[in-house]
Amino acid sequence: MRFESLAIHAGQEPDPLTGAVVPPIYQTSTYKQDGVGGTRGGYEYSRTANPTRKALEECLAALETGTAAFAFASGMAAEDCLLRTLCRPGDHVLIPADAYGGTFRLFAKVLTNWGISYDTVPQTDLEAVRDALKNRETKLVWAETPTNPLLSVVDLEALAGVAHEAGALLVADNTFASPYLQRPLELGADVVAHSTTKYIGGHSDVVGGALLTNDEELDAAFAFLQNGAGAVPGPFDAYLTMRGLKTLAVRMDRHCANAARVADMLAGHPAVSRVFYPGLPEHPGHKTAATQMRAFGGMVSFRVAAGAARAVEVCGRTRLFTLGESLGGVESLIEHPARMTHASVTGSPLEVPADLVRLSVGIEDADDLLDDLSQALS
Ligand code: PLP
Repeated sequence: MRFESLAIHAGQEPDPLTGAVVPPIYQTSTYKQDGVGGTRGGYEYSRTANPTRKALEECLAALETGTAAFAFASGMAAEDCLLRTLCRPGDHVLIPADAYGGTFRLFAKVLTNWGISYDTVPQTDLEAVRDALKNRETKLVWAETPTNPLLSVVDLEALAGVAHEAGALLVADNTFASPYLQRPLELGADVVAHSTTKYIGGHSDVVGGALLTNDEELDAAFAFLQNGAGAVPGPFDAYLTMRGLKTLAVRMDRHCANAARVADMLAGHPAVSRVFYPGLPEHPGHKTAATQMRAFGGMVSFRVAAGAARAVEVCGRTRLFTLGESLGGVESLIEHPARMTHASVTGSPLEVPADLVRLSVGIEDADDLLDDLSQALS
Protein backbone atom coordinates (compact mmCIF):
# COMPACT_ATOMS: atom_id res chain seq x y z
CA MET A 1 0.00 0.00 0.00
CA ARG A 2 1.02 3.58 -0.58
CA PHE A 3 1.30 6.30 2.05
CA GLU A 4 -2.30 7.56 2.05
CA SER A 5 -3.71 4.03 2.31
CA LEU A 6 -1.25 2.99 5.03
CA ALA A 7 -2.20 6.06 7.08
CA ILE A 8 -5.77 4.80 7.18
CA HIS A 9 -5.24 1.05 7.34
CA ALA A 10 -1.84 0.08 8.77
CA GLY A 11 -2.31 -1.41 12.23
CA GLN A 12 -6.03 -0.72 11.98
CA GLU A 13 -7.76 -3.91 10.89
CA PRO A 14 -11.47 -3.95 11.85
CA ASP A 15 -11.85 -5.25 15.40
CA PRO A 16 -12.05 -9.08 15.19
CA LEU A 17 -14.69 -9.27 17.95
CA THR A 18 -17.22 -6.69 16.72
CA GLY A 19 -16.08 -5.57 13.29
CA ALA A 20 -15.66 -2.00 14.58
CA VAL A 21 -13.92 -0.15 11.76
CA VAL A 22 -12.02 2.11 14.14
CA PRO A 23 -9.68 0.43 16.64
CA PRO A 24 -11.40 0.62 20.04
CA ILE A 25 -10.00 2.76 22.85
CA TYR A 26 -8.83 0.02 25.20
CA GLN A 27 -9.18 2.09 28.35
CA THR A 28 -7.75 -0.55 30.62
CA SER A 29 -4.65 -0.77 32.77
CA THR A 30 -4.56 -4.56 33.02
CA TYR A 31 -5.75 -7.74 31.27
CA LYS A 32 -7.30 -10.97 32.51
CA GLN A 33 -4.88 -13.88 32.24
CA ASP A 34 -6.12 -17.37 31.48
CA GLY A 35 -4.06 -18.96 34.22
CA VAL A 36 -0.74 -17.53 35.40
CA GLY A 37 1.25 -16.42 32.35
CA GLY A 38 -1.70 -17.17 30.06
CA THR A 39 -1.97 -13.77 28.40
CA ARG A 40 -4.26 -13.14 25.43
CA GLY A 41 -2.11 -11.79 22.62
CA GLY A 42 0.69 -11.01 25.07
CA TYR A 43 -1.13 -8.18 26.85
CA GLU A 44 -0.46 -8.11 30.58
CA TYR A 45 -0.25 -4.43 31.66
CA SER A 46 -0.85 -1.20 29.72
CA ARG A 47 2.49 0.45 30.46
CA THR A 48 4.08 -2.48 28.65
CA ALA A 49 1.55 -2.69 25.81
CA ASN A 50 -1.98 -1.56 25.00
CA PRO A 51 -3.87 -2.48 21.80
CA THR A 52 -4.84 1.13 20.96
CA ARG A 53 -1.25 2.27 21.39
CA LYS A 54 -0.07 -0.74 19.38
CA ALA A 55 -2.35 0.24 16.49
CA LEU A 56 -0.83 3.74 16.49
CA GLU A 57 2.71 2.35 16.69
CA GLU A 58 2.13 -0.03 13.78
CA CYS A 59 0.72 2.78 11.67
CA LEU A 60 3.63 5.11 12.48
CA ALA A 61 6.17 2.38 11.69
CA ALA A 62 4.53 1.76 8.31
CA LEU A 63 4.53 5.47 7.43
CA GLU A 64 8.18 6.08 8.40
CA THR A 65 9.21 2.73 6.86
CA GLY A 66 10.64 1.59 10.21
CA THR A 67 10.66 -1.91 11.66
CA ALA A 68 9.04 -0.61 14.83
CA ALA A 69 7.66 2.53 16.44
CA PHE A 70 7.37 3.48 20.09
CA ALA A 71 4.78 6.00 21.25
CA PHE A 72 5.38 8.32 24.19
CA ALA A 73 3.48 10.80 26.30
CA SER A 74 5.28 13.73 24.60
CA GLY A 75 8.02 14.46 22.09
CA MET A 76 10.36 15.28 24.97
CA ALA A 77 9.61 11.94 26.63
CA ALA A 78 10.54 10.23 23.35
CA GLU A 79 13.80 12.20 23.16
CA ASP A 80 14.60 11.40 26.78
CA CYS A 81 14.06 7.67 26.18
CA LEU A 82 16.18 7.81 23.05
CA LEU A 83 19.09 9.55 24.74
CA ARG A 84 19.05 7.46 27.89
CA THR A 85 18.96 4.34 25.74
CA LEU A 86 21.86 5.33 23.52
CA CYS A 87 24.12 7.42 25.77
CA ARG A 88 26.10 6.62 28.88
CA PRO A 89 27.99 8.97 31.24
CA GLY A 90 31.09 10.22 29.41
CA ASP A 91 29.44 10.12 25.96
CA HIS A 92 29.46 13.14 23.70
CA VAL A 93 26.79 14.28 21.23
CA LEU A 94 26.64 16.85 18.45
CA ILE A 95 23.54 19.01 18.17
CA PRO A 96 22.50 21.58 15.57
CA ALA A 97 23.38 25.24 16.12
CA ASP A 98 19.66 25.79 15.48
CA ALA A 99 17.32 23.33 17.18
CA TYR A 100 14.06 23.25 19.09
CA GLY A 101 14.62 25.02 22.43
CA GLY A 102 13.30 22.10 24.47
CA THR A 103 15.74 19.71 22.80
CA PHE A 104 18.59 22.08 23.63
CA ARG A 105 17.36 22.37 27.23
CA LEU A 106 17.29 18.57 27.55
CA PHE A 107 20.96 18.41 26.54
CA ALA A 108 22.15 21.57 28.31
CA LYS A 109 20.20 21.42 31.56
CA VAL A 110 19.31 17.77 32.10
CA LEU A 111 21.70 15.35 30.41
CA THR A 112 24.85 17.30 31.31
CA ASN A 113 23.98 16.48 34.92
CA TRP A 114 24.29 12.81 33.97
CA GLY A 115 27.72 13.25 32.39
CA ILE A 116 26.66 13.57 28.74
CA SER A 117 28.40 16.45 26.98
CA TYR A 118 27.40 18.23 23.79
CA ASP A 119 28.74 20.61 21.16
CA THR A 120 26.70 22.69 18.76
CA VAL A 121 27.61 22.89 15.09
CA PRO A 122 25.83 24.37 12.06
CA GLN A 123 24.81 21.15 10.34
CA THR A 124 24.36 22.78 6.98
CA ASP A 125 28.18 22.98 7.02
CA LEU A 126 29.22 19.35 6.58
CA GLU A 127 32.93 20.20 6.85
CA ALA A 128 32.27 21.73 10.28
CA VAL A 129 30.45 18.54 11.29
CA ARG A 130 33.31 16.39 9.98
CA ASP A 131 35.84 18.49 11.92
CA ALA A 132 33.82 18.33 15.12
CA LEU A 133 33.61 14.54 14.77
CA LYS A 134 37.36 14.32 14.17
CA ASN A 135 38.12 16.39 17.26
CA ARG A 136 36.16 14.27 19.65
CA GLU A 137 34.74 10.78 19.77
CA THR A 138 30.99 11.26 19.40
CA LYS A 139 28.17 8.88 20.18
CA LEU A 140 25.49 10.50 18.08
CA VAL A 141 24.68 13.38 15.80
CA TRP A 142 21.28 14.97 16.43
CA ALA A 143 19.70 16.50 13.33
CA GLU A 144 16.56 18.50 12.87
CA THR A 145 15.41 19.39 9.36
CA PRO A 146 13.82 21.75 8.62
CA THR A 147 14.91 23.31 11.91
CA ASN A 148 12.74 25.06 14.45
CA PRO A 149 12.43 28.07 14.07
CA LEU A 150 14.91 29.07 11.33
CA LEU A 151 13.90 26.44 8.77
CA SER A 152 17.47 25.42 7.92
CA VAL A 153 17.65 22.32 5.77
CA VAL A 154 20.22 19.59 6.35
CA ASP A 155 21.20 17.07 3.70
CA LEU A 156 20.30 13.94 5.67
CA GLU A 157 21.92 11.45 3.34
CA ALA A 158 25.24 13.34 3.38
CA LEU A 159 25.04 13.87 7.13
CA ALA A 160 24.37 10.16 7.69
CA GLY A 161 27.52 9.41 5.66
CA VAL A 162 29.62 11.82 7.73
CA ALA A 163 28.23 10.54 11.05
CA HIS A 164 28.68 6.87 10.15
CA GLU A 165 32.22 7.44 8.87
CA ALA A 166 33.06 8.67 12.37
CA GLY A 167 31.24 5.77 14.05
CA ALA A 168 28.38 7.98 15.31
CA LEU A 169 24.66 7.33 14.99
CA LEU A 170 22.40 9.81 13.19
CA VAL A 171 19.14 10.77 14.90
CA ALA A 172 16.67 12.89 12.93
CA ASP A 173 13.88 14.91 14.48
CA ASN A 174 11.29 14.73 11.68
CA THR A 175 8.61 16.78 13.45
CA PHE A 176 8.54 19.71 11.00
CA ALA A 177 8.37 17.60 7.85
CA SER A 178 6.26 14.64 9.03
CA PRO A 179 6.71 11.26 7.32
CA TYR A 180 4.51 12.43 4.45
CA LEU A 181 7.13 14.94 3.33
CA GLN A 182 10.37 13.23 4.38
CA ARG A 183 11.49 9.80 5.56
CA PRO A 184 14.91 10.03 7.23
CA LEU A 185 15.31 6.25 7.75
CA GLU A 186 15.33 5.88 3.96
CA LEU A 187 18.10 8.50 3.80
CA GLY A 188 20.37 6.70 6.28
CA ALA A 189 19.25 7.99 9.70
CA ASP A 190 19.42 5.38 12.46
CA VAL A 191 16.56 6.76 14.54
CA VAL A 192 13.68 9.14 13.85
CA ALA A 193 12.12 11.17 16.65
CA HIS A 194 8.77 12.94 16.48
CA SER A 195 6.70 15.28 18.48
CA THR A 196 3.39 13.74 17.34
CA THR A 197 1.77 16.73 19.04
CA LYS A 198 2.38 18.57 15.76
CA TYR A 199 1.48 17.50 12.19
CA ILE A 200 0.92 13.83 13.04
CA GLY A 201 -1.82 14.60 15.59
CA GLY A 202 -2.67 17.65 13.53
CA HIS A 203 -5.54 19.13 15.57
CA SER A 204 -3.85 20.74 18.59
CA ASP A 205 -5.75 18.44 20.92
CA VAL A 206 -3.15 15.91 22.08
CA VAL A 207 0.49 15.88 23.20
CA GLY A 208 2.63 12.90 22.18
CA GLY A 209 5.91 11.66 20.81
CA ALA A 210 7.40 8.72 18.94
CA LEU A 211 10.66 6.97 18.13
CA LEU A 212 11.26 4.87 15.03
CA THR A 213 14.12 2.73 13.80
CA ASN A 214 14.81 0.01 11.30
CA ASP A 215 17.28 -1.81 13.52
CA GLU A 216 16.06 -4.67 15.65
CA GLU A 217 18.68 -4.15 18.36
CA LEU A 218 17.63 -0.53 18.79
CA ASP A 219 13.97 -1.58 18.71
CA ALA A 220 14.54 -3.95 21.61
CA ALA A 221 16.45 -1.30 23.58
CA PHE A 222 13.72 1.32 23.09
CA ALA A 223 11.01 -1.20 23.99
CA PHE A 224 12.91 -1.95 27.19
CA LEU A 225 13.11 1.69 28.34
CA GLN A 226 9.63 2.61 27.07
CA ASN A 227 8.34 0.05 29.55
CA GLY A 228 11.13 0.51 32.09
CA ALA A 229 10.73 4.28 32.47
CA GLY A 230 7.08 4.25 31.43
CA ALA A 231 6.46 7.64 29.77
CA VAL A 232 3.71 6.14 27.60
CA PRO A 233 0.60 7.83 26.18
CA GLY A 234 -2.79 6.75 27.46
CA PRO A 235 -5.15 4.89 25.12
CA PHE A 236 -7.29 7.97 24.44
CA ASP A 237 -4.23 10.00 23.44
CA ALA A 238 -3.13 7.15 21.17
CA TYR A 239 -6.61 7.11 19.61
CA LEU A 240 -6.61 10.88 19.01
CA THR A 241 -3.15 10.76 17.45
CA MET A 242 -4.19 7.90 15.17
CA ARG A 243 -7.35 9.72 14.18
CA GLY A 244 -5.25 12.74 13.18
CA LEU A 245 -2.74 10.59 11.35
CA LYS A 246 -5.41 9.27 8.93
CA THR A 247 -5.65 12.68 7.24
CA LEU A 248 -1.97 13.61 7.39
CA ALA A 249 -1.45 13.53 3.62
CA VAL A 250 -4.38 15.76 2.69
CA ARG A 251 -3.66 18.17 5.53
CA MET A 252 0.02 18.43 4.59
CA ASP A 253 -0.85 19.16 0.95
CA ARG A 254 -2.94 22.13 2.09
CA HIS A 255 -0.41 23.26 4.74
CA CYS A 256 2.30 23.32 2.05
CA ALA A 257 0.16 25.14 -0.51
CA ASN A 258 -0.93 27.79 2.01
CA ALA A 259 2.59 28.23 3.40
CA ALA A 260 3.97 28.79 -0.12
CA ARG A 261 1.42 31.60 -0.66
CA VAL A 262 2.24 33.14 2.72
CA ALA A 263 6.00 32.98 2.09
CA ASP A 264 5.60 34.61 -1.34
CA MET A 265 3.52 37.41 0.10
CA LEU A 266 5.95 38.04 2.97
CA ALA A 267 8.96 37.96 0.62
CA GLY A 268 7.50 40.95 -1.23
CA HIS A 269 6.34 42.87 1.85
CA PRO A 270 8.21 46.07 2.78
CA ALA A 271 7.77 45.48 6.54
CA VAL A 272 9.63 42.14 6.30
CA SER A 273 13.42 42.02 6.08
CA ARG A 274 13.87 38.27 5.57
CA VAL A 275 11.69 35.21 5.04
CA PHE A 276 12.73 31.69 6.02
CA TYR A 277 10.92 29.08 3.92
CA PRO A 278 12.66 26.20 2.13
CA GLY A 279 10.25 26.53 -0.79
CA LEU A 280 11.65 29.93 -1.77
CA PRO A 281 14.29 29.50 -4.52
CA GLU A 282 16.65 31.88 -2.66
CA HIS A 283 16.56 29.73 0.52
CA PRO A 284 20.06 28.21 0.93
CA GLY A 285 18.59 24.74 1.48
CA HIS A 286 16.06 24.92 -1.34
CA LYS A 287 17.77 22.39 -3.63
CA THR A 288 18.36 19.90 -0.82
CA ALA A 289 14.78 20.28 0.36
CA ALA A 290 13.51 19.74 -3.18
CA THR A 291 15.49 16.48 -3.30
CA GLN A 292 14.73 14.99 0.10
CA MET A 293 11.23 16.36 0.77
CA ARG A 294 8.01 15.83 -1.17
CA ALA A 295 7.11 19.51 -0.60
CA PHE A 296 8.35 22.32 1.61
CA GLY A 297 6.14 22.17 4.68
CA GLY A 298 3.76 24.45 6.51
CA MET A 299 6.17 26.46 8.67
CA VAL A 300 7.30 29.96 7.72
CA SER A 301 9.45 32.34 9.79
CA PHE A 302 10.27 35.96 9.04
CA ARG A 303 12.16 38.91 10.47
CA VAL A 304 10.36 42.19 10.96
CA ALA A 305 12.32 45.10 9.44
CA ALA A 306 11.39 47.56 12.20
CA GLY A 307 12.88 45.32 14.91
CA ALA A 308 11.97 43.25 17.96
CA ALA A 309 9.30 45.50 19.50
CA ARG A 310 7.44 45.63 16.21
CA ALA A 311 7.73 41.83 15.83
CA VAL A 312 6.05 41.40 19.22
CA GLU A 313 3.36 43.86 18.14
CA VAL A 314 2.69 41.95 14.90
CA CYS A 315 2.22 38.75 16.94
CA GLY A 316 -0.46 40.51 18.96
CA ARG A 317 -2.28 42.00 15.98
CA THR A 318 -3.30 38.97 13.95
CA ARG A 319 -6.90 37.84 14.23
CA LEU A 320 -7.00 34.57 12.32
CA PHE A 321 -3.47 33.47 13.25
CA THR A 322 -3.81 32.63 16.96
CA LEU A 323 -0.97 33.75 19.21
CA GLY A 324 0.27 30.52 20.72
CA GLU A 325 3.08 27.99 20.99
CA SER A 326 3.09 24.65 19.17
CA LEU A 327 2.52 24.05 15.47
CA GLY A 328 1.18 21.63 12.92
CA GLY A 329 -2.52 21.92 13.75
CA VAL A 330 -5.26 22.74 11.26
CA GLU A 331 -5.51 26.26 12.70
CA SER A 332 -2.85 28.87 11.96
CA LEU A 333 -0.63 29.98 14.83
CA ILE A 334 1.77 32.89 15.26
CA GLU A 335 4.46 33.27 17.89
CA HIS A 336 7.58 35.18 18.92
CA PRO A 337 10.26 32.47 19.34
CA ALA A 338 12.72 34.59 21.38
CA ARG A 339 10.13 35.19 24.10
CA MET A 340 8.07 32.00 23.71
CA THR A 341 9.16 28.61 22.29
CA HIS A 342 12.87 29.43 22.30
CA ALA A 343 13.16 31.45 25.51
CA SER A 344 15.22 28.55 26.91
CA VAL A 345 18.05 29.18 24.39
CA THR A 346 18.56 32.85 25.34
CA GLY A 347 22.27 33.47 25.90
CA SER A 348 23.29 30.18 24.25
CA PRO A 349 24.78 29.61 20.77
CA LEU A 350 21.23 28.77 19.67
CA GLU A 351 19.78 32.19 20.54
CA VAL A 352 17.25 33.27 17.88
CA PRO A 353 16.88 36.81 16.48
CA ALA A 354 14.57 38.96 18.59
CA ASP A 355 12.82 40.33 15.48
CA LEU A 356 11.84 36.82 14.36
CA VAL A 357 8.20 35.74 14.03
CA ARG A 358 7.24 32.10 13.44
CA LEU A 359 4.07 31.02 11.67
CA SER A 360 2.46 27.62 11.64
CA VAL A 361 0.35 28.03 8.54
CA GLY A 362 -2.91 26.15 8.92
CA ILE A 363 -5.39 24.84 6.40
CA GLU A 364 -7.83 27.76 6.41
CA ASP A 365 -8.57 29.67 3.21
CA ALA A 366 -5.25 31.08 1.97
CA ASP A 367 -6.72 34.48 1.06
CA ASP A 368 -8.04 34.92 4.60
CA LEU A 369 -4.56 34.13 5.95
CA LEU A 370 -2.91 36.65 3.61
CA ASP A 371 -5.47 39.33 4.54
CA ASP A 372 -4.83 38.74 8.21
CA LEU A 373 -1.05 39.00 7.90
CA SER A 374 -1.33 42.10 5.70
CA GLN A 375 -3.46 43.93 8.25
CA ALA A 376 -1.13 42.88 11.11
CA LEU A 377 1.95 44.13 9.23
CA SER A 378 0.39 47.34 7.94
N1 PLP B 1 10.93 18.54 18.43
C1 PLP B 1 10.47 19.64 17.81
C2 PLP B 1 11.04 20.04 16.48
C3 PLP B 1 9.48 20.42 18.41
O1 PLP B 1 9.03 21.52 17.78
C4 PLP B 1 8.97 20.02 19.67
C5 PLP B 1 7.93 20.83 20.37
O2 PLP B 1 7.63 21.94 19.98
C6 PLP B 1 9.48 18.88 20.28
C7 PLP B 1 10.45 18.14 19.62
C8 PLP B 1 8.99 18.43 21.63
O3 PLP B 1 7.75 17.83 21.54
P1 PLP B 1 6.61 17.88 22.69
O4 PLP B 1 6.21 19.32 22.86
O5 PLP B 1 5.53 17.01 22.13
O6 PLP B 1 7.21 17.33 23.94
